Amino acid sequence: MISSLQELVFDNRLVRELPADQEIDNYRRQVAGAVYSRVAPTPVKNPQLIAGAPEVAALLGLRATIFTDPQFAQIFGGNQLLAGMEPHACVYGGHQFGNWAGQLGDGRAINLGEVKNQRGEHWTLQLKGAGPTPYSRTADGLAVLRSSVREFLCSEAMHHLGVPTTRALSLVSSGELVRRDMFYDGNSELEPGAIVCRVAPTFTRFGNFEIFSARNDIALLKQFTNFTLRTDFADMFPGPAAEFTKADYLRWFNEICIRTAQLMAHWMRVGFVHGVMNTDNMSILGLTIDYGPYGWLEGYDQDWTPNTTDAQGRRYRYGNQPRVALWNLAQLANAIYPLIDEVEPLQAALENYRAEYERCAQRDAAAKLGLSQFDPGQDQYLNEQLLECFQLIETDMTIFYRSLAQLNADDISHYADTQCVDIVRESFYSAADENVETQFAGWIRRYAQRLQQDYVLTGNTHEQKIARMNSANPKYVLRNYLAQQAIDKATAGDYSEVEKLLNILRNPYDEQPEYQDYFAKRPEWARHKAGCSMLSCSS
Ligand code: AMP
Ligand code: MG
Repeated sequence: MISSLQELVFDNRLVRELPADQEIDNYRRQVAGAVYSRVAPTPVKNPQLIAGAPEVAALLGLRATIFTDPQFAQIFGGNQLLAGMEPHACVYGGHQFGNWAGQLGDGRAINLGEVKNQRGEHWTLQLKGAGPTPYSRTADGLAVLRSSVREFLCSEAMHHLGVPTTRALSLVSSGELVRRDMFYDGNSELEPGAIVCRVAPTFTRFGNFEIFSARNDIALLKQFTNFTLRTDFADMFPGPAAEFTKADYLRWFNEICIRTAQLMAHWMRVGFVHGVMNTDNMSILGLTIDYGPYGWLEGYDQDWTPNTTDAQGRRYRYGNQPRVALWNLAQLANAIYPLIDEVEPLQAALENYRAEYERCAQRDAAAKLGLSQFDPGQDQYLNEQLLECFQLIETDMTIFYRSLAQLNADDISHYADTQCVDIVRESFYSAADENVETQFAGWIRRYAQRLQQDYVLTGNTHEQKIARMNSANPKYVLRNYLAQQAIDKATAGDYSEVEKLLNILRNPYDEQPEYQDYFAKRPEWARHKAGCSMLSCSS
């Protein structure tokens, strides 16, 4: 481990190996024939560290003491560069809400470079909100505190939940004010600005491939794809950098399909709704990327979306995410088609997505119910019945599964219906009527029978079942209102709640009885409050 930022080693493969934009002035434009533009972060008035993630520092090989270095906020606020950093923004395109949007690109993200740690791993450092780039279009390149707190906390929360994600090293306030019209209703306000330093093996998105293909720049598409295979998929393609074959490209695309399927299953398992699953927000590594108007399911609802911009079409609603990911993969398949020239094997990979998603979803459904295996013959139905019960009364997903773990299958045969339902009653947002009692009790009895059958088959015990459920069902997630409370305090200059949430969410599956208050349903005041249930893309 190293103790100073100066000891970081940069090995900027992307900048070194891929074509740069020849224009060096920073003004908004279309950039063709290049993968990136060199652009420096815009200095800010008074950068101050709000929070840091020691686990992410460790990925870079840095000791946690690094956060006390006064230079830290200067660098990760965008005021200074370390030797070896080569700041740049990448070009990409994307399908937004189902339509091709042309060139997008890193409009408010600036890559500082690739750290090569002592283990030989490469980690790209990226400042989000560090000022305009050639890709900023009509916007300012900045980010506000509220969205930066959300990105910082959720990146780390997702990681600790076991969900693949980009990471966040630090959250720095800029000391500047940024104008935002939060609900696009003409009421703009000045908000504190902030900068998150994101960290990932790469930030490459589906859109990076789409833009070259859309411009019919097949040479660059190929060069960029080859670079991606050699660097970001080096495990799959070891050995010298020979020319890749069609079979290699197909194997690679298949891998992206598999990883994306696994990611979707994770989101569904924990109740995460991304909110803006445009193809420019889809990571080539199958990571969760770009935390904007995301949200966490509170009341279980397949149709819920946190994003007000998507309230009409609900394209990115919770239950639609696996389908949208497939649609996005199909756009990526179209983009790389010129490298492959055959439709069927690409379609076969998309089929593999479906199969892998199904496999993961079934595995997760079994784990969430504490069953050792998913038996399609009976568990498909059992699960569907549960989702039907959730339709009857607003039921908090997180609290439901966590409470259900306490059910002892041997006890309930002599329980009355209400006693059965008492096990999960805490998860209801309103009083259960007779129908709800009957339906839930009926389901719980069927479920208890299934558990008993499972115990007989596997020799598992009640305690083992609880452990299995509690490792699949988090107790603590970044509920929308919890994030908002941390934001309200942070806006008033008190960062303690950010730190506290980071700490709780570090062990989301642990009981942590001292934080029981954070295992609570969304309070009524938060039901329709901006930031708690409704979010826009304004960030
Ligand atoms: P998003 O919806 O956040 O994924 O962003 C879509 C596109 O808009 C990307 O190219 C972003 O870089 C760009 N963008 C979003 N917010 C800003 C901003 N404040 N300044 C410049 N570009 C932005
Ligand atoms: Mg984005």
